[in-house]
Amino acid sequence: MLYSSKEKITKSYDVIVVGAGLAGMTLANKMARDGRSVLLLESHNKLGGFATWFKRLEGEHIFDVSLHGFPVGMIKTCRKYWSREIAERIHQLKSVRYINPQFEVETDFTKEDFIKVLIEKFGVSNLTVQAFFDELTNMNFYDNSQMTNGELFEKYFPGRNDITRFLLEPIVYANGSNLEDPAITYGIVFSNFMSKGVYIFQGGTDMMITMMRDELIKNGVDIQMQARVDKILVNDKKTVGVEVKGHIINSLAVVSNSNLKSTIFKMVGDQFFSPDFVKKAQAVRLNTSSCQVYMGIKKGESIPFVGDLVFTSEDASFSTDLILSPKVGSQTFSVYYPDARPHLDPKYAVVSSSNARFEDWIHLSEEDYQIQKKYIIERAIAGLEKIIPGVRSIIDFVDAATPLTVERYTLHEKGASFGTKFEGLDVSMNMHKEINGLFHAGSVGIIMSGWLGAANYGVIQAHEVDNYLSRLEKEIAIN
Ligand SMILES: Cc1cc2nc3c(=O)[nH]c(=O)nc-3n(C[C@H](O)[C@H](O)[C@H](O)COP(=O)(O)OP(=O)(O)OC[C@H]3O[C@@H](n4cnc5c(N)ncnc54)[C@H](O)[C@@H]3O)c2cc1C
Repeated sequence: MLYSSKEKITKSYDVIVVGAGLAGMTLANKMARDGRSVLLLESHNKLGGFATWFKRLEGEHIFDVSLHGFPVGMIKTCRKYWSREIAERIHQLKSVRYINPQFEVETDFTKEDFIKVLIEKFGVSNLTVQAFFDELTNMNFYDNSQMTNGELFEKYFPGRNDITRFLLEPIVYANGSNLEDPAITYGIVFSNFMSKGVYIFQGGTDMMITMMRDELIKNGVDIQMQARVDKILVNDKKTVGVEVKGHIINSLAVVSNSNLKSTIFKMVGDQFFSPDFVKKAQAVRLNTSSCQVYMGIKKGESIPFVGDLVFTSEDASFSTDLILSPKVGSQTFSVYYPDARPHLDPKYAVVSSSNARFEDWIHLSEEDYQIQKKYIIERAIAGLEKIIPGVRSIIDFVDAATPLTVERYTLHEKGASFGTKFEGLDVSMNMHKEINGLFHAGSVGIIMSGWLGAANYGVIQAHEVDNYLSRLEKEIAIN
């Protein structure tokens, strides 16, 4: 059932899920289907977390915030843990383009096409390309290899900044990775993506989240929105529930889908964890944030097909540090044609995204913040004009989101849009070993971020929570 935001919940639950991002929702749905009583609490007035959308000009334009593309694996995950109807709406993007001073390439982002481009366009030998892909395929999460992304590219494509750009640029946009991150994170994310291309949900994020909400309610999940959890309650090394606006709700287990660091240091409190764990958690680095510019095309106007995802850059060469800086000349355009929402009056929209650092925005005065916002809006329109000449005159809505916007809406510290760096995974996965019944599911460790990573992590943690609840049941039966 859907509780109103004012209702005081007096029931107790097997599990309370704090946050309705894709990890929290997928976990809640799986556990309810498996017969557990589940309460999903969301601080926002919408479900979905980053998987969100907003309307402007009285609904004339709908913009998707994070529906730019995800790997094919999302079809299987949705079919298995959501519904066939949701899975069937997932469609492949037709064209991914790169336009930069080093090269122009159009690809469908499949492995076959990547191999072809590397050999034919970049002149790499068949043998080297095969060896590179073999290394990616054989990367094992448990190998504990210390190789970095930079070392991986240097091993196979020494001195080839253009190839590094071709292989890494989409992933930097996708999750803020850099050359110093462990190669395993690149291997997993890149292999997931380019196995069969890039996919999106046809119908828009609003339709997907509405379908998921209906599914959650059908499966018996209780949901309350505008319910920000202030505290996760711990008693005698065990979670006992949560506190929302001074009201306590009890449960046997709690899963936080909130930011990893906020969970440990704000909602639980570091006094409940071992000093060693606290040290590890303090050392976890957050991932970067992002800037987006949303551009709506006037009703009745159209734009030609220029690709679905266009990675553009004016920077002469590729540098992950530059990509994160406000001076960057790179941006990715996601172009939404009328078939993105075929059920609605067809409209075109374009979203420009660039990775960004919170630190570059938080210290600006209000005046400088507005100037910098205007600058990224102008950069986006000017960049788009190069791909679609004359587009400026048919844009009737434009606005920008910055790392500060991301933080305000999602409660992610520093507006981190892809959770934490690799070391966050270990802390997240081992939280339940510190406090019985306390789990974390949500973007961590690079590999568990993005729509697919987050949803799959929800499934993994649902198994852990279920094992815990089963153990509790056995203990009760014995006593
Ligand atoms: C601009 C942008 C573009 C992106 N593009 C893509 C893309 O194209 N493809 C892709 O695969 N991924 C993309 N991502 C990443 C992807 O959207 C996220 O990795 C994924 O949706 C995160 O899911 P999550 O489960 O970790 O939770 P989140 O989405 O982070 O949701 C967490 C939820 O918890 C709630 N919450 C937090 N604290 C509390 C509390 N105390 N009480 C109650 N509720 C709380 C929040 O309000 C939020 O709803 C993008 C992200 C951003 C920011």
